[in-house]
Amino acid sequence: MKKSAVITGASRGIGRACAVELAKAGFDVLINYRSSDSAADATLALCRDYGVKCVKFCADVADESEVRRMLAFAEMELGGVGVLVNNAGVSESGLFTDMTREDYTRVFDTNVWGSAVCAREAAKIMIAAGGGKIINISSMWGIVGSSCEALYSASKAAVIGLTKALAKELAPSNITVNCVAPGVIDTDMNACYDKATMADLREQTPLGRIGTPEDAAKAVAFLAGDGADFITGEVLRVDGGFVI
Ligand code: NAP
Repeated sequence: MKKSAVITGASRGIGRACAVELAKAGFDVLINYRSSDSAADATLALCRDYGVKCVKFCADVADESEVRRMLAFAEMELGGVGVLVNNAGVSESGLFTDMTREDYTRVFDTNVWGSAVCAREAAKIMIAAGGGKIINISSMWGIVGSSCEALYSASKAAVIGLTKALAKELAPSNITVNCVAPGVIDTDMNACYDKATMADLREQTPLGRIGTPEDAAKAVAFLAGDGADFITGEVLRVDGGFVI
């Protein structure tokens, strides 16, 4: 398998940590982002410390033509796409009774359609190359559901369904498809929670702490490596025991 990886939403948070972990493991990396150009440069600099080839590409994962251009760029610059990490995601919170069509479109376009279309374009390259690995980032809320995050939870449950279906469909092409379901991880996505809510979430986590982006990224790096060659369709929780 070509040691090259495309990581979506890698300008910040879990995506940045995934890019760094994969670079550390010797993967050439494409760092995707939507708007945070200077943050993407910071990720590039962190990855370059490991002596691998690193490129960045601005694309909205929900935009099919931008995704096509991004995967073509990856193929040209990195010589292939051995690993795709579908990490780009947006959250949503509020009362379900206030939900709008616009909320649905925003959340599902990025979290579900974005993951599907990136997987489709990467799979075409992987099939031609004889194999690859797709790793989707879901969430523990996609397994158990979160109050006041109904659309987000539904979108992350859809990512699990997508993972399992693609694992079956792409296995004959030697492509594994797995999913990481993080618990509460310390990133910008949780900046909306106040101190008391974060303390409550920490208390509900059996291991007694909030996760780091590196906790999630190490699981992604494991699934991207040779040690996971016979694992597909798996949902790997990285949640400190929150969902047992
Ligand atoms: P974050 O800190 O908010 O970062 C989100 C990243 O996604 C940024 O790099 C952002 O790019 C990118 N992005 C968002 N929409 C995009 C789009 N349409 N096209 C391309 N890039 C896009 O989030 P995070 O906490 O690291 O979350 C990463 C993933 O983990 C998400 O799928 C999230 O649902 C999942 N997750 C997070 C937690 C948690 O507690 N943090 C828990 C479970 C699952 P820009 O910087 O350019 O905006």
